[in-house]
Amino acid sequence: MYKNLINGEWVGSTNAAQNINPSDTSDIIGEYATAGVAQTIDAIAAATAAFPSWSRGPIQARADLLERIGNEILLRKDEIGILLAREEGKILSEAVGEALRAAQIFKFYAQEVLRFGGQLGPSVRPGVNVEVTREALGVIGIITPWNYPIAIPAWKIAPALAYGNCVVFKPAELVPGCGWLLADIIKRAGVPDGVFNLVMGSGSVVGQTLLDHKEVSAITFTGSVATGQRVAQACIERMAKFQLEMGSKNPLLILADADLDNAVKCAINGAFFSTGQRCTATSRIIVEKPIEAAFIEALTRAMGELTVGDARAPGTDMGPVVDQRQLDQDLRYIDLGASEGATLASGGQRVQREQQGFYLAPTLLTNCANDMRIAREEIFGPVACVMTADDYEHGLHLANDSEFGLCAGICTGSLKHAAHFKRNAQTGMVMVNLPTAGVDYHVPFGGRKASSYGAREQGKNAEEFFTTVKTSYVFADLPG
Ligand code: NAD
Repeated sequence: MYKNLINGEWVGSTNAAQNINPSDTSDIIGEYATAGVAQTIDAIAAATAAFPSWSRGPIQARADLLERIGNEILLRKDEIGILLAREEGKILSEAVGEALRAAQIFKFYAQEVLRFGGQLGPSVRPGVNVEVTREALGVIGIITPWNYPIAIPAWKIAPALAYGNCVVFKPAELVPGCGWLLADIIKRAGVPDGVFNLVMGSGSVVGQTLLDHKEVSAITFTGSVATGQRVAQACIERMAKFQLEMGSKNPLLILADADLDNAVKCAINGAFFSTGQRCTATSRIIVEKPIEAAFIEALTRAMGELTVGDARAPGTDMGPVVDQRQLDQDLRYIDLGASEGATLASGGQRVQREQQGFYLAPTLLTNCANDMRIAREEIFGPVACVMTADDYEHGLHLANDSEFGLCAGICTGSLKHAAHFKRNAQTGMVMVNLPTAGVDYHVPFGGRKASSYGAREQGKNAEEFFTTVKTSYVFADLPG
């Protein structure tokens, strides 16, 4: 049994959950200990006890730890990629890329630790100086989703530790393998006992205990809007700091002057890579009327060339959906699309392979309207809707007409329209002639509206969430 990491010890449990390969449901990856309330409280207590020495300890020790973690992930990226593909269903190249990203993030924050911060300046009062500094928050509860099982934990754990906080990390139930492996690497790198703790288990038990515990100073959460709202309510109740990254319904606007080949590549990547299970996935493709027919024809042709299969098999372009529940949800939305009047232009059906897995064909619904539920609600699978724009202004209006606002893309040869779109898209991120998914780690990540709440993640921006600002006034007008 893979155990939880509490106060530097691997701790078992009477309960365990099976980790199942979505490409082959007969393949059980392992048994992972399920923590209860008591173990979660133990982890919080260990993190609380470790905080004073970790937050005030030498920054060189923090930098060295993060560097060692990054180096080991880098060294083992292929092995981690195989595990990630096996438990989440992302194809191997994407999975190894995600492991590489996790390594880069740890190495980035190893350097950030040493970046000199703070401000010193004169007060408006004579003889007084003002200092503005940042301090660690305390214990951070980290709650993550299943779709980026190593990169999202990395982009929360690395800055949390870098800025002097202690961590209790709860991975998503479907992907304990990557969470456990990351914890093992962090322990092997020499993290002091209690500074980093892993508690695997359910959201309603482990997650809720983190939300409600008074010693947890802040919660960083990525997941669905429904859970995000619960996180917000629980944190507001006891005035804990929180940060939410949630769902989206990202638009890709394709204008008549776009390079058609590139537009198709952007749509294929955005809508179907990682089986469409990305918060930045393209789910609404808005096409200007003059090229709509040609675009749909080229896109469905390209979709027909995608090989759906075992995530670890060479030649697979798209792995399975993560589990039965997500597959059922995808199929329900496809049926709903038909009943709302959309046309099923491609896919829509399960794909049979030698082994039992949650395989779904990449699916395109055309003749969609922006007020259909399939165009408004997050499906979180390889399903994209196409809708028509009369012109650029109409396309921009459709792109912005959404409860969500994570990322928006435009494909165009017009600098004027690209610049206008960049300025007027109501999202946290904009892509020009690029897929909506695919971001860097050294710059802010996040959205607007129902997609995000609180400080942006990643890059230097992460200090906004993981530290608190202190303003100190010093009277030092000594005689002479
Ligand atoms: P989810 O909301 O079901 O679960 C997310 C995490 O919250 C899991 O670890 C879960 O155990 C935990 N949780 C559930 N109930 C809880 C509770 N009562 N208290 C505390 N924690 C609880 O989301 P998911 O299905 O794992 O992930 C998919 C969602 O994540 C999609 O909506 C996707 O868009 C979103 N996502 C967003 C981003 C982003 O950065 N915006 C990135 C990746 C995924």
